[in-house]
Amino acid sequence: MTAQFETTFACLGTNFGAYVAPSALKDARLLHCNTTLATQMGLELSAISELVTASNLPASCKPFAMVYAGHQFGGYSPQLGDGRGVLLGERRRDQQLWDFHLKGAGKTPYSRFGDGRAVLRSTLREYLGSFAMQGLQIPTTQALAIASTAEQVRRESLEPGAVLLRVTQCHIRFGHFEFFYYQGMQDEQARLINYCAQRYLNVDPSSTHDNALALLQMATQRTANLIAHWQAVGFAHGVLNTDNMSLIGETFDFGPFGFLDDFEPGHICNHSDDQGRYAFDRQANIGLWNLNALAHALSNFIDIADIKKALASYEEILSSHYYQLMMTKLGLDTKFSEENQQLLQSLLQMLAQNRIDYTQFFRSLSHNPNHAIDLLIDREAGTRWLSKYQAACAQTPNTQRTAQMLAANPKYILRNYLAQQAIETVSNGDMGTFNALLTVLASPYNEHPELDHLAKPPADKDKHLAVSCSS
Ligand code: AMP
Ligand code: MG
Ligand code: MG
Repeated sequence: MTAQFETTFACLGTNFGAYVAPSALKDARLLHCNTTLATQMGLELSAISELVTASNLPASCKPFAMVYAGHQFGGYSPQLGDGRGVLLGERRRDQQLWDFHLKGAGKTPYSRFGDGRAVLRSTLREYLGSFAMQGLQIPTTQALAIASTAEQVRRESLEPGAVLLRVTQCHIRFGHFEFFYYQGMQDEQARLINYCAQRYLNVDPSSTHDNALALLQMATQRTANLIAHWQAVGFAHGVLNTDNMSLIGETFDFGPFGFLDDFEPGHICNHSDDQGRYAFDRQANIGLWNLNALAHALSNFIDIADIKKALASYEEILSSHYYQLMMTKLGLDTKFSEENQQLLQSLLQMLAQNRIDYTQFFRSLSHNPNHAIDLLIDREAGTRWLSKYQAACAQTPNTQRTAQMLAANPKYILRNYLAQQAIETVSNGDMGTFNALLTVLASPYNEHPELDHLAKPPADKDKHLAVSCSS
C-alpha cells in the first residue's frame, strides 16, 4: 500500500515557499534505516527506500521548499530557505502530524550559490547526532534513513554525496517569523502564527495576538529546557543561528556539533566560529539572544510588556532545570540548596582545571566516588571536594543512589573521534563501527560490556578534530 501524506504546510501556498520536485540521485540506494522510527511511522522498508531515494514518491506528497530568513553569526540574512531540502509532506500518527523532510535532494529557489546536495560525512553525523540525542532523551529531530549515491559532491575536494530523510513535528524555525516580519508581510505572518498555534499549542483557537504570545512563551520555555539539557550533557550545537532554532525547542540542523571530551567550558566545536560566538558556555546567552530575535519578529502582534515578561522567564527556567539535571547527576536532592550549588561549582572548576573527561568522570562518580577522584591530577583538592560531597550525600540518604546516578550519567556519548571513525569505515563500505555506535547511542546508560571501547575518551591526538560548516 502506498504511504499516505498530508501537506498542510505546503497548502499555505507559494508565499511560504516553492513547490520543487526533488531530483533523483544517481544509483541512490538505502544505506541505513532507523527501524524503531519506521515502525512508529507505520512504514515498511520498501516505502522508506522510495522516499529517501526520491525514486517513486507517493502521489499524496507535495514536495515543498520552505522560505525563511535568519540571523547568522549575529548578522541578518534576509532570505535563506530550504536550499537543499524539501518537505515531502506530513504523516499523521497518534493524532500528530510528522514532517518528512529530505535533505540533499537538489537545488531549490533558495539554493543561492549552493549545489543542493549534502555530503555523506555530514549526513552520517546528523544521523548519529540525532540518535545520540534521542538516546539521551533530549528533544531532537530524528533521522529516519540515509541514501547513499554514486554522485560525487564538490566541497574542499570531491566527496560522496548522500540524502537524509528527517522526521519531526516541526520544521518551523525562528527565522520563518523573521522572514515575514522584515518583508513586511503581516498577513502571511498572521497565517503562520495561527497555523503554528493550531498545530503546536494545545489551546482553543484564539486571536492572532494571543496565539503569538503563547508561541513565544512556548518557544522560550522549550529553548530554555533544551539548552539546560545540552549544558548538563556537555553538548555544543556549533551554529546557533536563528535559522537553526526550532520553534518547538528541538536540537535542529546538526552541523559542526560536538560533545565535550575534557570539560572545557569555552570549547568551540565549529572550526569556522573564529569569535567563539557559539562556544559551549555561551549557548545559554545565545538562546536568549535568539529568542529576542524571535520576539522582535512577533512584535507587531504582542505588546512589549508581554514580550518582556515572556523573555524574563528564560533565565529562571534554564537555571532551575540545569540545577535539577546536575543534582540528579550528582545523586543529590534536586531542591535548591546553596551548599550543593557551591559543591557543583567547585566540581566544575576542578574538572576544567584538571581537564577531565566530563562523561567519564560522572559515570565513574556513579560507580564509585573514590575512583572518580583518582582521575584528578590535583588529588588534594579532589579529596577535599570528595569529603564535602560525601557529607552532602549523607544528608540525602538514598539506597537507590548508584542506580539513579547510572541512569542520569551516560556511559556513551557521540565522541567526535568515534563519529570520524564511523564515517571513514562507512565510506570504505564497512558498516560495523557505525552500527555498533548506533547500538550504544540508543541506550547510552546501559553497560554494553562487549562495546566498552566505544566509551573511551579520545587519545590526545584525536581531541580537537576540526569540524567546519562546510557540509
Ligand atoms: P546550514 O548551514 O546547513 O544551516 O544552511 C544555511 C543555509 O544554507 C540554508 O538556507 C541551507 O538550505 C543553505 N545551504 C546549505 N548548504 C547548501 C547547499 N549545499 N546547497 C544549497 N543550499 C545550501
Ligand atoms: Mg540550517
Ligand atoms: Mg584529561
